[in-house]
Amino acid sequence: MSHHNKETWLKYINNTLPENERENLEQHMYSCDLCLEHYLEALEKQSNHGPQLQVSAEWTESILLKVPVKRKQPSQKQQLIHYAIAAVATIILMASGAFQAVVSIVPTKQLDYEEEVSISKSLIEQISILRIIEKNKEGQ
Ligand SMILES: [Zn+2]
Repeated sequence: MSHHNKETWLKYINNTLPENERENLEQHMYSCDLCLEHYLEALEKQSNHGPQLQVSAEWTESILLKVPVKRKQPSQKQQLIHYAIAAVATIILMASGAFQAVVSIVPTKQLDYEEEVSISKSLIEQISILRIIEKNKEGQ
């Protein structure tokens, strides 16, 4: 697997790469923590240079999904499944250290220690809820 340097990621962010190369980069980023970090660093660098930030809406959305967001009590099963995916992604990101990188480039979602603690708590709650759902399924 060949990695991409920050210059390439800057080009990606600035939309100066051909479509097929963009897709390659995106695919690679999904499976490579190192390049995800390079991308985030490039993104951070770029965001310091003014508002001409251009990333695909799809990718921005997928990054935002990886950032944990506190929500009210979920009422629907589908939402729970969605949260579970987010929770798993969060755990993976936290374990890989990318979580900190994501948080550091999203100022509106910057977390202090207290919030991090409550996120950990809510993750545990979400996992408990899922276990209850699984049990209910088995019982049916
Ligand atoms: Zn890579």
